Amino acid sequence: MGGMATTAPGTRALPDTSHFRRQAFIDGAFADAASGATFACVSPVSGETLFDVAACDGADVDRAVAVARRTFEAGTWSRLAPRERRTVLLRLAELIERDRDRLALMITLDMGKPISGAQGEVDGAAAYFRYFAEAVDKVYGEVGPTGPSAFTFVTREAIGVVGLVVPWNYPILMPTWKLAPALATGNSIVLKPAEQSPIVPLALAELAAEAGVPDGVFNVLPGFGETAGQALGRHMDVDKLAFTGSSEVGKLFLVYAGESNMKSVQLECGGKSPNVVFDDVPDVDLAVAQAAEGIFGNSGQVCSAGSRLLLQESIADEVLEKLAAEAGKWQPGDPLDPATRMGSMVDETQMDRVLGYIGTGASEGAELRAGGARAREESGGFYVEPTIFAGARNDMRIAQEEIFGPVVTAIPFRSEADGVRIANDTVYGLSSAVWTRDINKAHRFARSIRAGTVCVNCYDWGDNSLPFGGYKQSGIGRDKSLHALENYTQLKTTYINVLEG
Ligand code: NDP
Repeated sequence: MGGMATTAPGTRALPDTSHFRRQAFIDGAFADAASGATFACVSPVSGETLFDVAACDGADVDRAVAVARRTFEAGTWSRLAPRERRTVLLRLAELIERDRDRLALMITLDMGKPISGAQGEVDGAAAYFRYFAEAVDKVYGEVGPTGPSAFTFVTREAIGVVGLVVPWNYPILMPTWKLAPALATGNSIVLKPAEQSPIVPLALAELAAEAGVPDGVFNVLPGFGETAGQALGRHMDVDKLAFTGSSEVGKLFLVYAGESNMKSVQLECGGKSPNVVFDDVPDVDLAVAQAAEGIFGNSGQVCSAGSRLLLQESIADEVLEKLAAEAGKWQPGDPLDPATRMGSMVDETQMDRVLGYIGTGASEGAELRAGGARAREESGGFYVEPTIFAGARNDMRIAQEEIFGPVVTAIPFRSEADGVRIANDTVYGLSSAVWTRDINKAHRFARSIRAGTVCVNCYDWGDNSLPFGGYKQSGIGRDKSLHALENYTQLKTTYINVLEG
């Protein structure tokens, strides 16, 4: 347990992590798992074990859900005036900013994201809490148009106990996307972070308590999906389950809900998003830079990554040549160096999975134009080169399956109709982009694409004020924007018979 990690020969020493929280956070206090079990927290930066973290299971889930239920019913948070919850969540945003560097370091050590990206992620979390804090006392209910003999109104009420199960690719932002609207609307939360990234959510819980979120309202249980995650999904007293992660596990949560209490389920799952470049692209260099960022950013571990690059034939060679040059700027570096653009994969399993897909692409007959290998092996960490496959077909596995790594599959197409058909030929529908000068073509594409987001002449741009989520097997429901408040509230109709005097 604890202390300074030992250093692999020839690499920089990792910072001291002895003060990082590593126990579960239940009812306002840190505690070991009921079983006393732990699991190793390994940094992909260097492959070193940092310390052991509590491995919670069903018994801890039962305890945390009971605490969450009790606090919800007691009303210490759920019955506060919205403006009072606003004050607390605005304070939380300030505390996140105060601790920006500490939180960013946790993210980088835990999952290998470059420190500059981790700082940006922390900033994003603070801004997101602020958005929902500011929103929550500005939404109104409805008065029904039911005529003079009745007064009817429709209010939004907090759902109750909300379970959150999240992935590791954005260790503070992914929980925050759900936490902020769920807390703002008065729910009590039990969060299970991914086993690869438990550190920063535990720090977030401590900050929430410091900001004034009452004990028992926000609980965090590090642990495994099959145990703690499943127990939350199947719990009879969890009213809502919001999940981000793979489509495969997302489907399990629908089963868990169906086999337990029919809890409401919101899913933000995978993608194989098409980034479609027509030969009338207005700025080919911008398109190339954004295509690179869209697949190499966060080592490609992004649900909305532009993993399929659809290139109109007449421009394909030029784009691919420029993209290969651009990839040179994304060579993996030390994640703790502020100049690094691409860090490690989250762990050895994910690195092996990505390298496996690279082997699959080569054996399927796609042409490897750049990358393809492990990098920085001497660091002991888990790095993969930015990788480009060209001349691929859309029926290849590297064009159909979510690789979740810095691997782009470029697919040529002839006509506009071809481009749209290939773009839609996927079980996913999270994001998409089209590059063209022709506003009519852009509108036709936006209308035809079956995806939750379509960007025109940019890739994966968004805003807290805009909903984000998927069509098809990319999910159910939307994170972000005022619509996210709907995820954590339900409608109540009150019908008052106005009696004649
Ligand atoms: P998962 O979908 O397995 O993990 C997401 C969350 O679900 C984690 O908290 C995980 O817990 C939990 N979980 C896993 N199995 C179960 C289960 N049986 N019941 C309940 N909860 C469960 O993603 P992985 O981390 O395994 O990554 C595998 C692949 O999933 C990636 O390569 C990528 O393709 C895709 N993925 C997609 C993401 C997206 O945002 N689109 C995000 C992450 C992954 P734990 O980690 O502790 O097991």
